[in-house]
Amino acid sequence: MLEQTLVILKPSAIQRELVGEVISRFERKGLRLCGVKMLQLNDAILSEHYAHLADKPFFPRVKQAMMASPVIVICWEGVEAVQVVRTMTGATNGRLAVSGTIRGDFSVSNQENIIHTSDSPDNAKEEIKRFFSPTELFDYTKISSNFLYAESEKL
Ligand code: ADP
Repeated sequence: MLEQTLVILKPSAIQRELVGEVISRFERKGLRLCGVKMLQLNDAILSEHYAHLADKPFFPRVKQAMMASPVIVICWEGVEAVQVVRTMTGATNGRLAVSGTIRGDFSVSNQENIIHTSDSPDNAKEEIKRFFSPTELFDYTKISSNFLYAESEKL
């Protein structure tokens, strides 16, 4: 099933100069870049985005950390893209994330873990809408498409 998913390169990615590295991993995997932009998050959008963490003691700290610098939001597309990107992201705590994943390779922290990635297809749809207007998302054909998937996988 063709899906879109949201990735946020957190301030830890920007400050650690990992923007190119992280984007390159998703690009080389074969995902299609649908939209990308840089923006400064604020308390209102983070309270919505992290509503599931509202009762956690670390909630204010996480929001602060996400406002420490601008972030880069990216929409990627691919077959089962939500799971593909989650697998490449690794566990929340970078100290526990498996090597080879983005957090496993670049983070030693529970909070400063380089990227946010949508955790389900429903949340992905909501998150993409939160950060992108329809005109900021682009539909085009990747010329490599026939070499990324078997015909039967694209249905
Ligand atoms: P994920 O980002 O892996 O989907 P969550 O949605 O549970 O994880 O948490 C959102 C973000 O909040 C995490 O990516 C991390 O930056 C931060 N966070 C989660 N748990 C903790 C914790 N125990 N201590 C500090 N920060 C945390």
